[in-house]
Amino acid sequence: MSKRGAAESLEELAARESPAPKRVRVEDVVDETYTNGNGLSNGTSNAESTPDIVGAADELEEELGEAAGGLDDEENQAAAPRQKAPTEGYDDLYLDTVNRSLLDFDFEKLCSVTLSNINVYACLVCGKYYQGRGPKSQAYFHALEDDHHVYINLESKKVYVLPEGYEVKSKSLEDIKFQVDPSLPKDEVNKLDTEPKNAWDLIGRKYIPGYIGMNNIKANDYFNVVMHALSHVAPLRNYFMLENLKEKSQLAQRFSTLVRKVWNPRAFKAHVSPHELLQAIALQSGKKFNLTEQSDPVEFLSWFLNNLHLALGGSKTKPGTSVVQKVFQGKLKVESQQITARADAGDRLRFEDDHVKTDIQRFMILTLDLPAAPLFQDELDRNIIPQVPLTTILSKYDGLRAQERLNTRVRYRLLHPLPPYLLFHIKRFSQNKFVSERNPTIVTFPVRSLDMSPYVEPNPSIFPASEPIWYDLVANIIHEAVRTRDDSVEGEAERKVWRVQLRDKAHDQWLQVQDLFVENASADTLFTKESYLQVWERRRTPRKA
Ligand SMILES: [Zn+2]
Repeated sequence: MSKRGAAESLEELAARESPAPKRVRVEDVVDETYTNGNGLSNGTSNAESTPDIVGAADELEEELGEAAGGLDDEENQAAAPRQKAPTEGYDDLYLDTVNRSLLDFDFEKLCSVTLSNINVYACLVCGKYYQGRGPKSQAYFHALEDDHHVYINLESKKVYVLPEGYEVKSKSLEDIKFQVDPSLPKDEVNKLDTEPKNAWDLIGRKYIPGYIGMNNIKANDYFNVVMHALSHVAPLRNYFMLENLKEKSQLAQRFSTLVRKVWNPRAFKAHVSPHELLQAIALQSGKKFNLTEQSDPVEFLSWFLNNLHLALGGSKTKPGTSVVQKVFQGKLKVESQQITARADAGDRLRFEDDHVKTDIQRFMILTLDLPAAPLFQDELDRNIIPQVPLTTILSKYDGLRAQERLNTRVRYRLLHPLPPYLLFHIKRFSQNKFVSERNPTIVTFPVRSLDMSPYVEPNPSIFPASEPIWYDLVANIIHEAVRTRDDSVEGEAERKVWRVQLRDKAHDQWLQVQDLFVENASADTLFTKESYLQVWERRRTPRKA
């Protein structure tokens, strides 16, 4: 076994043009935790009297490798001196070379050379990722070749100077450590929706934590809008900002990191790249959802909520076993009856007294159907866009109106207790004869005080029958069909663009986010767009505000 390096004076370091000509071997490897606080290396000792001790796991591994393979003189020549601590009086050496504007910790933590995700460091001078910090590691070579000396371990968030190898414990690096994995204490998280906060990024741009841009890397706008909507569901957000998820899967951990970055009050830049989470999702979904092909936000949300529930250890059969189900899951009564062959047109939807089958189903997303859009035009030949109130399409769940599904008549009614948050999917796309059809009907709604009581089966033991059940809108994902010239087809092609409108409770305003663009929105005109997915929050007090 060997240990390498020793503390050397700064003069000696400065005098050397190239890596250390010699390499000091010492007798044994001592665990770093054991040696911490040993007071080794005051900067003036030499290799003979004070052996340097290196003990991080990666170095130990390399030590073992070296011990097995042996070292020739050339390798000895290539090694630079190792230090346990900075030379006295020079503990901020190299820190002025750190370039915060080049730092971005959003991308998957892979070594830029080996593509390994194990033991990765970010160079704080140029922002690139490199594996390891021991001699022969990529970070070590980068330090020697490019003269970049300050590195952060992306897992432990410890900062090291290479090639010397000592840890820097300067307070001036705290802001960088915070960017890697921003986390707020509970009392701050609890105030996110009540205390209005403004923040400024590195270049002095003002932003509101929680309402920042999200990078559309290629075609992941469908994902961005869902992430923003979920990041504004307070109990879900607070759970992922505060719980320790180290034992959970990458999906849960990376979602947690993304939520914490969205709400980062000390961000270097006023946007986030969801690359790490997208990579985990692409892997887990077998590339069904990825960043290069646009998917449907509702399909994605459904997949994501189910997988997030399982990632948290939620049960496949038992309800309410994760925060995801506690927040979104509700119950629905489904009554169905076969339509008999002799039923004439008028009878098809009339329930007969016998043979009504009743099922209780659980849901997380409620689908709302739009009335068929008429294709008439006015006298000026303009298309008239039809409108329908939200309450009209919600009447699907009033338990009275029967609908035809295949050869079955069905009626639905929600059951008490309704979940704290309701997700409405306004179904505007349908696959028809190999063509995706879009229903452009505009759904009108108030942003506050939606009474859900007409759609819930009375159950006085849970909720007073006469009282309204108020919900307020917190997020509204909207669709826009953008026509672009497309040479591959005749004339123009239609492209889907996704945006999300979010309620900023602390500032009492609405903001609209499309990828990197954040702008104010007016509560009065939210409904003028093609709503596709809505998140409604149950009001805690039953009285109308
Ligand atoms: Zn660098």
